[in-house]
Amino acid sequence: MAELSVITPIEYLRGVGPQKADVLKKELRIFTIGDLLQYYPFRYIDRTEFHKINTIHTAMIGAQVLGRLTGLQEKGEKRAKRLVGQFRDETGSIELVWFQSLTWLKKNLQVGAVYVMYGKPNEFNGQLSVTHPEMELLNSGEKKVGNQTMQPVYSSTEKLKKFNLDSKGIQKLQQTALETVYRALGDALPAAIITEHKLLSYPKALLAIHFPQNSEELNAAVRRLKFEELFFIQLRLLRNKQLNTLKYKGHRFRAVGERFNTFFNERLPFPLTGAQKRVVKEIRSDTNTGAQMNRLVQGDVGSGKTVVALLSMLIAIDNGYQACMMAPTEILAQQHYAGITALLGEGIARVSLLTGSTPTRKRRVIHQELEEGSLDILIGTHALIEDKVKFKNIGFVVIDEQHRFGVEQRAKLWRKNVVPPHMLVMTATPIPRTLAMTMYGDLDISVIDELPAGRKPIKTVHFFENQRLRVFGFMRQEIAKGRQIYVVFPLIKESEKLDLLYLEAGLENLQREFPMPTYQISIVHGKMTVKEKDFEMQRFVKGQTQIMVATTVIEVGVNVPNASVMVIENSERFGLSQLHQLRGRVGRGAEQSYCVLMSGNKLSKEGRTRLDTMVRTSDGFEISEVDLQLRGPGDLSGTQQSGILEMKIANLATDQAVLNEARNRVIAIFQEDPNLSLPKNQMLTDYLNQKSPGISWDKIS
Ligand code: ADP
Ligand code: MG
Repeated sequence: MAELSVITPIEYLRGVGPQKADVLKKELRIFTIGDLLQYYPFRYIDRTEFHKINTIHTAMIGAQVLGRLTGLQEKGEKRAKRLVGQFRDETGSIELVWFQSLTWLKKNLQVGAVYVMYGKPNEFNGQLSVTHPEMELLNSGEKKVGNQTMQPVYSSTEKLKKFNLDSKGIQKLQQTALETVYRALGDALPAAIITEHKLLSYPKALLAIHFPQNSEELNAAVRRLKFEELFFIQLRLLRNKQLNTLKYKGHRFRAVGERFNTFFNERLPFPLTGAQKRVVKEIRSDTNTGAQMNRLVQGDVGSGKTVVALLSMLIAIDNGYQACMMAPTEILAQQHYAGITALLGEGIARVSLLTGSTPTRKRRVIHQELEEGSLDILIGTHALIEDKVKFKNIGFVVIDEQHRFGVEQRAKLWRKNVVPPHMLVMTATPIPRTLAMTMYGDLDISVIDELPAGRKPIKTVHFFENQRLRVFGFMRQEIAKGRQIYVVFPLIKESEKLDLLYLEAGLENLQREFPMPTYQISIVHGKMTVKEKDFEMQRFVKGQTQIMVATTVIEVGVNVPNASVMVIENSERFGLSQLHQLRGRVGRGAEQSYCVLMSGNKLSKEGRTRLDTMVRTSDGFEISEVDLQLRGPGDLSGTQQSGILEMKIANLATDQAVLNEARNRVIAIFQEDPNLSLPKNQMLTDYLNQKSPGISWDKIS
C-alpha cells in the first residue's frame, strides 16, 4: 500500500472506512487526513492538576480528584433509577451520580478501590456532586497517576456520535492519523522564518495541539499554527495586490484641471479637514501612477466622505473620463444627488440620478447621454450595474457604504470599461485594524479620522423605561427651540410582528404626548412604498414635521442638519455599529445634539456593555473594537459573507500581535523579493500556486 500522507482521502485512514468517512465529510467537511489533523480541539481539560475534595466548587469546568470509592447504591425507580456512589479523600466526600449504563457500571466499579475521578462539580440540594464522572482505576503497579496531560475536547454532532465519533472517538482518529503520517509531514513555512520567529516545526505543533503535555507546549503550538494561518492569508492578499498592479493598467489622471479648480477655489463652502486633504492627496497620487487604484476610505458618519468622492470624480472628469457613484438605497442615492448638485452648482459637470424608480423615458435619455459621453457623473443605486448602462469612458467609480454590496456587483462595475476604472470604496462602518487588514488586505486603506471643525460632540445619555416622562419633557424643550427629533424603533427581521407592535405602541404614545396640530410627526417604515417613504422624508427634511418616527431605514446616510436629537427605543436590541450609525444622523448642524438611548429596566451584561460604550465614546474605531471583542469577527456588520474570516485557529479579536508579526514578515519578503524568485522563497511560490478550495480570491476583494 502506498504511503499515506495529508492528502490521502480520509477513508484510507485505519479505523475510518466508507461510512465514517461519509459522515466526516458531511458533518465536518473533513475529506483528507490533513483536514482531520486541522480539526483542532476547541478546548482542553487540564488533567495535569489534582484537586482535594474540600477545594472543588461548582464554578470549575472540571475537577480531577484522587480518592476512594466508598459506597455504591442504586436509588429511585424506573425512569428515575440512578446509581449513587460515595467518593472520599482525606479532606471530605462527594456524591457521584450515574443515570445510564447502570448494569455495566455495577459490574465494573469496585467499592473500596482507589480511582482517579474526573468530572464537572454540580450542586444539588446543597450537596456537591458529579454526574457521569470519568473513573479510572488506580493501578498500584503503574507509576503514572491519572491521565496527566491536557485532554483535548473536540466538538462533535449527534450524527457523528452515532458512528462513535464523539470527542473521544475523534481523539482516537487524530492519534491514528498522527502515527500514520507524522514522518511524512512537511512544513509549509521556510526554515528561516521558523527560526527567526521562534516557531515550533509543523509536525511538532500538530502533535502538541492534539496531545499537549502541558500548557506551555500548547501555547507554542497555538502560536505557530496561528502564525502560519495568518501568514498565508496575508501572503495571498499582498500577492494579489502586487499582481493587480502589474497586470491591470489604470487610467492615468495626469493633471488636476479646470473643473476641479473652479469647484475647489470658488464653490467649496468650507475648508477641507486635514484628514480629507490627506485622502484626496492619496487618491490623486494613486490615479497618476498608471496602475489601477483600489482604495477603501473608512470614515465615521459625518466625517465628510462625500466631498472627497466628489473631488476625486472631478479629477477624473478633468482628464476626460466619466465617473459614477453607487449607493445602497434609493433615499441615499437621492440625497447624494441633491447634495452633490447643490455643492457643484451650475456649469461644472453634468450629473444625473439613476435608480429603480427612474421613469423609462428618463432612463433612456440617461443611457444615451452616457454612451455619447455628454453625462459626466452618474449617481444611483444597483440600477447602475445593469448591463444596459454603458459608459463612453468610465474612469472612476465610487461605492458608498461598501458593505452592502457583494464582490460580484463590484466586479460588474469593474468591467464597465476596457481598462478597469479606479475604485473608491467608502464605508462609514469603521472596522478594527485586524479586520481591515484581513478583509481588505489587498486594498489600500485611507482613514478619515477627523471631524469637520466646529462640530459639537453629541451628548449621549441612557434612560430606562421608567424615566420616559423626563425624556418627553426634554423633547418638548428641544422642539420649542426649533429643533427636530428622530425616534427610532428596532427592526429585526425574525420578529417583524413584535417590531410592528413596538412601533405602533410607541407611535400612539408619541401622538398622545405630541398632539396635532401643535406637533407634526413623520413616519417611515419598511412596509411603505418608496414613494410614501420619500414623501414623509421630504416633510421632515423641509421642517414641516418635528418628529420623525422610523424603523432603521434611516440608518444609512440621511442628512438633516436641523435634527439634533436621536431617541433610540429598545436600544438594547441594537448592535453597537447600528447604534453608532444611528447616532451619526444627528450632530450635523451647529447646535448641540443629543442621543437618548432608551432601554428596558433589565439589561443583559452584553447589552449593558454596549450602552455604556455608546455613552462613553463616539469614536467609531473604538466602538468597533468593543464590538469585535463582544461578538467576534464573523458577526460584525459587513463581515458576514467574508469566507476569509472563517479561520481554523486564528481569531482576529485577540490575535492582533501575531497578525502584525505575520503581515510585517510578508511585507518584508515582498520588499526584498517582489516576484518571489529567490530560492529561499520557492516554497512560498509553490504554496501560492496550489489551488485553495473554499475561498474565492477574486481580483478585487
Ligand atoms: P459622511 O462621511 O457621513 O458621508 P458627509 O459627506 O455626508 O459625511 O458630510 C457630512 C456633512 O459635513 C455634510 O453636510 C458636508 O457638507 C459637511 N462637511 C464635509 N466636509 C466638511 C468640512 N471640511 N467642513 C465643514 N463641513 C463639512
Ligand atoms: Mg455618506
